Amino acid sequence: SIVVTGATGKLGRHVVEQLLEKVPADRVTAVVRSAEKARDLADRGVRIAVADYNAPESFDGLFAAGDKVLLISGSEVDRDRVRQHTVVVDAAKAAGVALLAYTSAPGTLTAALADDHRGTEQVLLASGVPYVLLRNGWYHENYTENLAPVLEHGAVVAAAGGGRVSSASRADYAAAAVAVLTGEGHENTTYELGGDEAWSFAEYAAELSRRTGREITYNAVTPEALTGILTGAGLPEPLAAVLAGVDASIARGELVVSTGDLSRLIGRPTTLIAEAVAAALPA
Ligand code: NDP
Repeated sequence: SIVVTGATGKLGRHVVEQLLEKVPADRVTAVVRSAEKARDLADRGVRIAVADYNAPESFDGLFAAGDKVLLISGSEVDRDRVRQHTVVVDAAKAAGVALLAYTSAPGTLTAALADDHRGTEQVLLASGVPYVLLRNGWYHENYTENLAPVLEHGAVVAAAGGGRVSSASRADYAAAAVAVLTGEGHENTTYELGGDEAWSFAEYAAELSRRTGREITYNAVTPEALTGILTGAGLPEPLAAVLAGVDASIARGELVVSTGDLSRLIGRPTTLIAEAVAAALPA
């Protein structure tokens, strides 16, 4: 079986959708927290397993020998995610899975957000389970799903200086995961995944201006100022600080990925940020 955790998340849904184009539904298992949320997948013949990273026993017997498993990193950033992911690694090891792929972060990323990913990678490598590290770069959607305040204020506010980002769409990263899960010869490989083109925030603002016909500027602020702006908008302080830390990483060039691994794995160019902008803006 091909098993996908986080299957009802945004990335997981892309992965399952693309898997169903390649393999019969009864060969796909979606690991979900809520069977209710996965009802549409069950209706299409996907096997459903209910488990929670916080409940180790829920993974007992979930995997079978020979399974190929995609561990999609959890989203509960206030929890010990290394511990959560270790639950999945331990279960995969006990079952004797053929492959455990993990959605990590770029190897260059030093922001606090990357700590859980580095910790999980170490656990996975030490386990001896055949692994694939899918070190996903940034999603276009981190930006294009948050356009409302940008359009409202006519400004992209970020603390990224002149730094560039090799983002790609969730669908692109999902396609890479599917290539690994359905292909051969990926065991014990690390892929540094990112979009073919790195863009700066000034270029992003210019693209938004072009698309909307309005003047949208890039307002470059310090990480401290950004933290203040985000908490002012209602974000919890720790989350605001994490996001500002990511921008500081971008300013240092840590989210530029130039390996070409992503387009090579998916066999096509990655989605352009301009295409993601066009898809996100009302026509
Ligand atoms: P989502 O928040 O949409 O999905 C997270 C998934 O993790 C959901 O399916 C969620 O389950 C599942 N999950 C969370 N906590 C647990 C738990 N305790 N036990 C079992 N499952 C759990 O994020 P995306 O799909 O967009 O991204 C996938 C992951 O990539 C994120 O979780 C995060 O680690 C990372 N990420 C990467 C970004 C990037 O730019 N590269 C940006 C943002 C996140 P449920 O459906 O029940 O909620």
